[in-house]
Amino acid sequence: MKVTIDRMQCVSCGSCWDTCPALFVQNDDDSFSQIVEEYRDKGDRGASVAIPDTMACVREAAGLCPASIITIVE
Ligand code: SF4
Repeated sequence: MKVTIDRMQCVSCGSCWDTCPALFVQNDDDSFSQIVEEYRDKGDRGASVAIPDTMACVREAAGLCPASIITIVE
């Protein structure tokens, strides 16, 4: 699966990086969520390369996002 974050709509609640720090981290400059460097697609902070389906916390984080801006593409 791949993940995107519509970063400009992020409200910096912290839920995603608390729930799934393996994939999400707060950006120090704009405070929005971003993909951790290891999994960024060509350096894009808002899009991941394919990540293991075993990373179950990703689905949990997407479901908890109050802004519903984390999208999973299978
Ligand atoms: S859960 Fe959603 S709104 Fe909250 S920090 Fe993550 S992407 Fe932003």
